[in-house]
Amino acid sequence: MKKKFSIRKQLLTILIVFIVVALGLIYFFQTTLLDDFYKNNKIETIKKTANDIVNNLDNDDLNNILDVETFSNEVCVRIVSESIYLVDYENRICALNQLTDYQLLRIYSEVKENNNEKLFDNYRFQGRPGELQDIYIYGIIGTIDDQEALVLVSSNIVPLDVTINTISDQFILIALIVILMTIVLAFVLSFIIVKPIKQIESETKQLPKGKYNEDNIKANNLEIDNLNNTLAKANEEIKKADKAKKELIGNVSHDLRTPLTMIVGYGEMIRDFKEENNEDNINVIIDEAKRLSTLVDDLLDVSKIESGAIELNKEDISLNELLKDVYKQYENYCKNQKVKFKLQLNDDKTINVDSHRIKQVLYNFINNALNYNDKKKKEIILGTEINDSFTRVFVYDNGVGIKKEDLDNIWDRYYKVDKEHKRVHLGSGIGLSLSRDLLIAHDLKYGVESLEGEYSKFYFDI
Ligand code: ADP
Repeated sequence: MKKKFSIRKQLLTILIVFIVVALGLIYFFQTTLLDDFYKNNKIETIKKTANDIVNNLDNDDLNNILDVETFSNEVCVRIVSESIYLVDYENRICALNQLTDYQLLRIYSEVKENNNEKLFDNYRFQGRPGELQDIYIYGIIGTIDDQEALVLVSSNIVPLDVTINTISDQFILIALIVILMTIVLAFVLSFIIVKPIKQIESETKQLPKGKYNEDNIKANNLEIDNLNNTLAKANEEIKKADKAKKELIGNVSHDLRTPLTMIVGYGEMIRDFKEENNEDNINVIIDEAKRLSTLVDDLLDVSKIESGAIELNKEDISLNELLKDVYKQYENYCKNQKVKFKLQLNDDKTINVDSHRIKQVLYNFINNALNYNDKKKKEIILGTEINDSFTRVFVYDNGVGIKKEDLDNIWDRYYKVDKEHKRVHLGSGIGLSLSRDLLIAHDLKYGVESLEGEYSKFYFDI
């Protein structure tokens, strides 16, 4: 398995890498590239100044413009006419003034040869005594009063070695401080993030027992708070599932025991008393065996649904035909039991469903309608109602109804309103939850309306 590192280590590594790269980049720009930036900047400045001046050569205010340009851009300007000797403008103690006539003439001709503008970046002048200074000169040809003139703008290039050395020295100090701060920051961050995670980690150990306590977590950010809430919900689900599991064992063993006792009892009776070997008694054994078979089938379906293994064999079929099939299954039984069973159909429609599964849902609804009815005149309706965008398929009964507070719970597995009820017909005790799962698998809306002591109406919309 790949080795996992703690959040603290990961955070520290990421931050340190980030800071080292960032500092490295800054160092590179501040030292290696500083000289280039500086020189490019100077070149841009003298080019721009020269162009501004050329555009204003005929301006009456030329002298003022030149003063402003030279002052604000810290450059030196010289304007010479073709005859060289005519000097229109000279300012301050300027390197350009040290140019000899010969040099000026050479510059003039080189500028003209180079399409009337040229940068000279290899000039050296005597600056302060004993000090040679590099300068950049930019020359451009313009016209004054229709006469050709050369505009020269120059700028001193100061060696940056000393500046770079100072930056380097400072940089080491800054780098040390920043790395130290990063380490502290990593620890503070990891403390904020890791502490509640560790709390959750230790508390989660209680989760399998359903004893996760959300109040033990001091969540200091939204994500941890959400995680805490999710785990608390999972804890509730685990508790519920645990309770349901216990109830399941109780219910299933009860539901298994009753028919098994009957089968064994009737079997022994037929074996011991030959005269009891009649159709009625054998039918009891067959019915009870069928009840067992239904229970086992339902349990298998539930586990299939839970493991996601259920497959729907959907096909286009007529809704009314499907309902007629279901009705036929119960018609005779209800007649025998004196239950008024009605089929109330509306306009037919083609539906795309797994008809076996949808029938299973309706059988469950009808079984319950028969089971939960203590009225003398029992009445059940299987029918449809047409709405704007859907058809509602329902099973109505005039039975015991369901209390308001139980309405939400009856779809839960093994939920029984009356734990002591006796079943009069085939049923598994997980009917509604299985029906719900099957309807959800079909993406159908389902529900129940009921009034205690009056009626229940289970439905789904298609
Ligand atoms: P079972 O009927 O085996 O208990 P179900 O899942 O089919 O299991 O039903 C769950 C509970 O819902 C029943 O125990 C009953 O209390 C209630 N219930 C279901 N259908 C009806 C109905 N038609 N009338 C009244 N109560 C019903």
